[in-house]
Amino acid sequence: MPDKAYFPLGRRGMEAFNLRECMKCGNENEEELELLDKQDVTEKEENNLLNIKTYKVKCNKCGATYKIIIKSLYTNEQTEENRMVSTVHYTENGEEQWLGVF
Ligand SMILES: [Zn+2]
Repeated sequence: MPDKAYFPLGRRGMEAFNLRECMKCGNENEEELELLDKQDVTEKEENNLLNIKTYKVKCNKCGATYKIIIKSLYTNEQTEENRMVSTVHYTENGEEQWLGVF
């Protein structure tokens, strides 16, 4: 999982935020954040590849369980040079929210 994602803030540029803290209570103690499940799926879309990584995280401080979903689009091959964009989403109870890009 990447450390950070970025929120676009219009003209003020981008603000980084930490993916390795609880999205609910802001707990930054990684030992209390438990990775319950990880999925990594790649789908072919015409000439592009869409890679979806899903991290299911449980915070042992506030008890929240949520998922961080990272969707990356690649041209032809799944390499860093061919990565066009990655978007980061957050879901809790099935509701997906867009968090940012990296
Ligand atoms: Zn928490």
